[in-house]
Amino acid sequence: MKVGTPEKFIVKGKRLDGRAPDEIRPIKIEAGVLKRADGSARVEWGGNIAVAACYGPREVHPRHMAKPDKAVLRINYNMAPFSVSDRKRPGTDRRSMEISKVTSEALEPVVFTHLYPNTAIDVFVEILNAAAGTRCTGITAASVAIADAGIPMKDLVPACAAGKVGGEIVVDLCDIEDNFGEADLPMAIIPRTGDISLLQMDGNFTPSEFKKAFEMAKTGCEQVYKVQMDALRNKYGKME
Ligand code: ADP
Repeated sequence: MKVGTPEKFIVKGKRLDGRAPDEIRPIKIEAGVLKRADGSARVEWGGNIAVAACYGPREVHPRHMAKPDKAVLRINYNMAPFSVSDRKRPGTDRRSMEISKVTSEALEPVVFTHLYPNTAIDVFVEILNAAAGTRCTGITAASVAIADAGIPMKDLVPACAAGKVGGEIVVDLCDIEDNFGEADLPMAIIPRTGDISLLQMDGNFTPSEFKKAFEMAKTGCEQVYKVQMDALRNKYGKME
C-alpha cells in the first residue's frame, strides 16, 4: 500500500469529497471563450480547468503531413507548469504525447475530415489546473471547440472515467482516489451511435467490476454530453 493511502475511501456511502459512488463532480462548460481561435471552449470539472482552442481547416505545416483524402486532426495536449502542486517541467513529455494521440483518435471518428483534404485541424488543449481526469476534461473541451469552429461533426464526444477505490467502483475519480485507488477506466463515447471512441485501463478489475465501471463511466459520459450541448445552445441559441 502506498504511503498516504486513506484508511477508507467510502464512509457511510459517501466518498472523501462527499459524493455518492455514482456521482460525477460539478461540471461547467462555456463555448467560444477565445476571440482569436476559430473555435474554443473552457471546461471546469471538479478541480480541473481546461481551455481548448481550435484552428482550421488550414494549410498543413510541415507539408508532408498533409493527407490527399482528408484533413489531419492534430491535438496538442499541454499541462501548464502551475497546474499541479509540484511544478511540472514545461514542454512535451511522454504523457502529453500519449494523451494528444488518444484524444485525436477519440475525436477523429466524429469529424467530417474527408470534406477538407490537404488541410489540418489543430486543437490545442491547455490544462490550467489538474485534479485527476484531465484527459477526459481535455477531450470534452476539444470536441466543443471543434463544434464551435463550425467544423461539421457527427456528434460531440463526451468523456468520463470510472475506477476502483478501496474495492468499490466509483465514477469520475478525484485526485486522492486517482493517486491511491486500484484502477482507473477513462472512456469517451459517441452518444448518437453508441460507439466507444476511447477506452483505457490502468490497474485491475474483475470481469464484473469492469462491467460495473464501464456502465458508470458511460452514464457519466451521458451526463457530460448534456452539459456540452447546453454550452453550444447557450452560444448559438436553440438547436434540435
Ligand atoms: P488523467 O489526467 O487523465 O487522469 P493521468 O492518469 O496520467 O491522467 O494523471 C492523473 C493525475 O495526476 C492528473 O490528472 C494530474 O492531476 C496528476 N498529474 C499528472 N501529471 C502530473 C505531474 N507531472 N505532476 C503532478 N501531478 C501530475
